[in-house]
Amino acid sequence: MATPVADSLRRMTDLAADESPRTDEGADGGDVMEKIVGLCKRRGFIFQSAEIYGGFRSTYDYGPLGVNMLRNVKNTWWRSMVQLRDDVVGLDAAILSPPAVWAASGHLANFTDPLVDCRQCHSRWRADKIDGVCPTCGSTDFTEARAFNLMFKTHAGPLEDEGAVAYLRPETAQGMFINFANVLQTTRKKPPFGIAQVGKSFRNEITPQNFVFRTREFEQMEMEYFVPPDDSPKWYEYWLDQRYRWYLDLGIPADRLRLRHHEAAELAHYSTATADVEFLFPWGWDELEGIANRSDYDLKAHAAASGEKLDFFDPTTNERYVPHVIEPAAGATRTMMAFLLAAYDEDEIGGERRVVLHLHHRLAPYQVAVLPLSKKDTLEPTAREVLGLLQPHFMCDYDLTQSIGKRYRRHDEVGTPWCVTVDFDSLDDRAVTVRDRDTTEQVRVPIDGLLAELQSRAQ
Ligand code: ATP
Repeated sequence: MATPVADSLRRMTDLAADESPRTDEGADGGDVMEKIVGLCKRRGFIFQSAEIYGGFRSTYDYGPLGVNMLRNVKNTWWRSMVQLRDDVVGLDAAILSPPAVWAASGHLANFTDPLVDCRQCHSRWRADKIDGVCPTCGSTDFTEARAFNLMFKTHAGPLEDEGAVAYLRPETAQGMFINFANVLQTTRKKPPFGIAQVGKSFRNEITPQNFVFRTREFEQMEMEYFVPPDDSPKWYEYWLDQRYRWYLDLGIPADRLRLRHHEAAELAHYSTATADVEFLFPWGWDELEGIANRSDYDLKAHAAASGEKLDFFDPTTNERYVPHVIEPAAGATRTMMAFLLAAYDEDEIGGERRVVLHLHHRLAPYQVAVLPLSKKDTLEPTAREVLGLLQPHFMCDYDLTQSIGKRYRRHDEVGTPWCVTVDFDSLDDRAVTVRDRDTTEQVRVPIDGLLAELQSRAQ
């Protein structure tokens, strides 16, 4: 008999798979995808949204482990893009915005995908993703493609008339352009400088697909880097390199990562050059991030439409110019999924099969698990002392249930890099055992030196 968990797992896997027309050869065959979807559900990374009502297609809720990991993805991006630089500042702009923003940006006219109906089975598809063959019934008989605008339209206030129309942002980027003058004035930055933002975006995707790869509500991590016009090719190359390295540094293997330069015909209306950072997903190469040279398109468009000056006066040369923009635009939720897929591994430890996520310590939901060897009360004060010592510095789990071996396996499966075990000897020698997830090596460390030891491992 199917259990509720098994049922909901099947539903999630179905929902993840059934709108996925791409069939290119991928990295590890399809079943890794199924295993990741299963693990996400079983261990509390990602749940189908509104699951108790049968699930709401293409929306997902991030559970206790998923919310930690997603935050880590975003924080790691913020750390490298804002905290460790003196030329990039942050912003958190509104999600709701008036039509004027999207008319000027070109989204009302151009932010469309080609929609076709299959004449045989009446399913609807995004024409550029199905190679002319209906994924449901195999027919090649489609209606003419028509432009379908991906923006979610709503009404702000109690009247549902034209004057109250508002849109949920389909990207975070426009928030940076419309605040360009505010940021310039308040920070006294001058080109080259960037404005970074992390937050939700919404697109009414025709065919959401592949679990959290393509959803209608998702999170982006975008940065607009404003430069003197002549310097834009140089900065474009710089950001291609920086962004590519970010994924490598966080553990995506080089053979599953590539930069794909767009052909002229593929470029968006605002772009003079674009390249995608692509990851080898189970279904083939697909985009994690787009890096675009957006020229001066956006600032000029908003200046013309709003009547405001959106340019920069350089007092050293007495020149006024509209900066050009290099934009690295990444997806946080999509990237989290790529990190999970790349980290997934099955190996054998002492003749026993184990599932392990080799997540980078900055990304793992927990960096440390504190494990009292037994439930006996005598261990608790020391175990809690160790927990209190580590909690201000690391996201920690305190886990008491089941045998120590089972607890190690559980933490391997969710990618916890270090387990700290408090045993009966700890009461006498004031030392604990630190176990490494990847090597399973165990070393005895004095409690006094534990924080320094873990901090040196977490460099
Ligand atoms: P695609 O071609 O896959 O539709 P895009 O080129 O339109 O994506 P961008 O507008 O460049 O995407 O958005 C930047 C990033 O935001 C993407 O690289 C991706 O990581 C993320 N993203 C875009 N759309 C979605 C979505 N529907 N679900 C999840 N992430 C998304």
